[in-house]
Amino acid sequence: MPAQPNLSKISHPQAPELLMPAGDIQRLKFAFDYGADAVYLGAPLFSLRARENEFNLEELEKGIQIAHSLKKKVYLTANIFARNLKLKPYKQALAEWIKLKPDALIVSDPGLIMVTKELAPDLDMHLSVQANCMNWESVKFWQKQGITRIILSRELRLTEIQEIKQKVPDIELEAFVHGSICIAFSGRCLLSHYMSYRDANQGVCDNSCRYEFNTYHTPKSVESGEYYIEDLRNKGEFYQIDEDENGSYIMNAKDLCLIEHLKELKEAGVCSFKVEGRTKSVHYVAQVARAYRHAIDEMMENKPFSQTWINDLEKVANRGYHKGFFMGQPNYTAQNYDTSVARHMTQKFAGITTLSDEGKILFEVRNRIEVGQTVEVITPRDHFTDTVESFKNKDGIEVNIAHGGTGFFEMKLRHTPVLPENAIISLIENPDLSQTSKSESSND
Ligand code: SF4
Repeated sequence: MPAQPNLSKISHPQAPELLMPAGDIQRLKFAFDYGADAVYLGAPLFSLRARENEFNLEELEKGIQIAHSLKKKVYLTANIFARNLKLKPYKQALAEWIKLKPDALIVSDPGLIMVTKELAPDLDMHLSVQANCMNWESVKFWQKQGITRIILSRELRLTEIQEIKQKVPDIELEAFVHGSICIAFSGRCLLSHYMSYRDANQGVCDNSCRYEFNTYHTPKSVESGEYYIEDLRNKGEFYQIDEDENGSYIMNAKDLCLIEHLKELKEAGVCSFKVEGRTKSVHYVAQVARAYRHAIDEMMENKPFSQTWINDLEKVANRGYHKGFFMGQPNYTAQNYDTSVARHMTQKFAGITTLSDEGKILFEVRNRIEVGQTVEVITPRDHFTDTVESFKNKDGIEVNIAHGGTGFFEMKLRHTPVLPENAIISLIENPDLSQTSKSESSND
């Protein structure tokens, strides 16, 4: 196995930034290894995705140090709409964050923006997508408040982004290019709060829009063709609805994917391509970063877009892809009426490889895998298929099966003498579907 080049070192200097989510330190490292220029992560207590955020102050410091040692950036997300009782803790937290030297703070609440400007005048502020900035007059307004970058509303069309940049050329524009999207305007959804008492705008959305519902009818409603749904989590609450053979899904948006349109976005003035997903797995973070890294690099080399990057994005869990509002108003094809979870994928994630304290490269199992199974091994710049030859557990005993969540194993592959470090290992469930980006080294 040749040494793996570090993708982090090969970005073109004028290339737009690839900005990946980081839910914890492991995902932060994988995001950088697989090509991210920057990551965003949650400031404890003040970020949406509050339930999944694993960063405390110590972890934040570690994450920022790792990023800066690689000459990468970290943006700290503090994008809740704060109540009065959070104002004092915010000021205290801000004083601690400044010491860690993050590259910017992502904010949405006007009060917190004002406080940040007063207490941390040198800290760049990026306006969160939660603030729903939709037009160039709003961009000008926020610029006057000290905002240095606008994270554009996901509901904007390409032509609107172009106009914003023409009218306000001296502002940085960041756009979401990939990941789950809300059926509501970002920052304006009351559904989760209404149905589960969990306020999406305080960081605890329960994805109410995606759930499956039971359908009911009464003799009278059959006559009139009216059916009703019952939220399976709140029995006894009914809404009028239709159903087909896959069940009833009322507002279940497909995932955004604009990898084919990066050039148009760059030409429109977008300087940062953002991927959604602080709750997503390390497999997702690595594969998506890798696909977008290659697509950006090839765009900068004036190469035509390669369909193989879309094939790679099909390998990770998704709800089906669509292009959001990029070319205009989405219609019914932007929704998934089959399932409420991100089930589509052509591969099953098995685990990752890491360097142990003793200097051994070990396999950390995430999903059941057996000796004899065919796997795809993905590294930042390479991938190949091979067959699992053997496993040894932590006691040095050979086993035929490694079960998900049972820790670290010594793993041997049939044709690969040394396991690469920080690799993603996936089971090839359907090899025909799994044809991937490049065939640099296919051993099987
Ligand atoms: S319920 Fe759905 S639309 Fe509302 S905030 Fe959550 S994910 Fe977005």
